[in-house]
Amino acid sequence: MTSIDEFRARARAWLEQNAKPFDEAAGHDGEGTSVPLEESKRFQKALWEAGFAGITWPKEYGGQGLGAEELIAFNQEAADFELPTGPFVIGLGMPGPTILELGTEEQKRRHLPPMLRGEEIWCQLFSEPSAGSDVASLQTTATRTETGWVVNGQKVWTSGAQYSDFGAILARTDPTVPKHKGITMFIVDMHHPGVTVRPLVVATGHAPFNEVFFDNVEVPADAVIGEVDKGWDAAVVMLRNERVAIGAGGRARTNALGYDSLLEAARTRGLESDPAIRRRLALLYARESALTAYGRVLHEETTAGIQIGARGSAAKLAGAELALWAADLAQDILGSDLALGSADLDRVVAAVVGAPGGAVAGGTNEIQRNIVGERVLGLPKDPGVDRNTPFNQLKLSR
Ligand SMILES: Cc1cc2nc3c(=O)[nH]c(=O)nc-3n(C[C@H](O)[C@H](O)[C@H](O)COP(=O)(O)OP(=O)(O)OC[C@H]3O[C@@H](n4cnc5c(N)ncnc54)[C@H](O)[C@@H]3O)c2cc1C
Repeated sequence: MTSIDEFRARARAWLEQNAKPFDEAAGHDGEGTSVPLEESKRFQKALWEAGFAGITWPKEYGGQGLGAEELIAFNQEAADFELPTGPFVIGLGMPGPTILELGTEEQKRRHLPPMLRGEEIWCQLFSEPSAGSDVASLQTTATRTETGWVVNGQKVWTSGAQYSDFGAILARTDPTVPKHKGITMFIVDMHHPGVTVRPLVVATGHAPFNEVFFDNVEVPADAVIGEVDKGWDAAVVMLRNERVAIGAGGRARTNALGYDSLLEAARTRGLESDPAIRRRLALLYARESALTAYGRVLHEETTAGIQIGARGSAAKLAGAELALWAADLAQDILGSDLALGSADLDRVVAAVVGAPGGAVAGGTNEIQRNIVGERVLGLPKDPGVDRNTPFNQLKLSR
């Protein structure tokens, strides 16, 4: 038995004892909001204590110091279980890796272990009402004081802000230079007076994201991630991690729009021998498998410290396109059952309703296509007419 086989067997045994087996037929809201937060925190702590959280992160920051192969083995075993780890996905997938890459030693020691133990939850505060795809046009400001900075402004679409303890926020620190230059990334305490979180309710009736207002919120000088006025570089690091976290998933039984789920739906409706449905299910299997293989390469390269560059955008785009395509297939298999709804279809309904959101979150499909076009295919760059104009001379809706 290799050490990977041993690790896999240990993970399987722990999951069988501590996690709920994935149940296709069980009612589920598809957004992970049905599990109480305290239960999620308890589970994440137990996961960490057992040695399965932060698998590739360095030991000195609470990680396990292992490689991509162990991470992939764990994820493969975990695909058969319901892990209530949704609240930690953003922190561990985006701010966490960014702090690992750019943070100070003190930031790493202070923030990464509680993140892994499930004691502190994080959100990502990038998008604003007038700055989504063009996030560099953000208008939230951070003004220097004697002890640090004061933040004022508004963010929107902030997933999980309602239960987050910290956020990684982008704010404008120098409006006299072009828009990509005068931005800084900070760690902000979401419990600080002056932070107001207002949930936004979506079509499923849940509120997965929020508006967040900052009124004179003080941030200490040592809360800067990376360098002052170099927040765009930090944002690029975080977006790169976000695209791998979102896009490089691939096959999973827990995916309500995945092959296993839709094959089951076709079977129970006597449609698995319908040639048109069979062909599309086969194509779904092939596309999922290709994405799994691609995701594996990206995870392995990321863990080995290789810059995956714009290929993260290709993975994110492929994942979002596949979800939209699978949502069409789900609608053709389920027909009016989808509209009428039933407890066993809640997950699929939530996934069909959520699929267009996946083509927007983490950068829209159009933006990913622009990135792939420019940086992978070498097509001409967007002229970026406002790229060299000082931010305070741009005509923006304020
Ligand atoms: C489920 C979900 C979760 C999210 N979670 C977070 C979060 O936790 N934190 C956070 O900061 N943000 C979050 N977002 C926000 C997300 O990053 C933005 O919605 C996204 O970047 C698009 O910005 P926008 O909504 O302002 O659309 P816009 O930028 O206004 O775009 C509108 C349309 O124009 C197109 N477009 C814009 N510019 C170009 C261009 N240059 N070329 C071609 N087409 C273009 C877009 O593709 C889109 O179709 C989330 C969004 C969703 C849907």
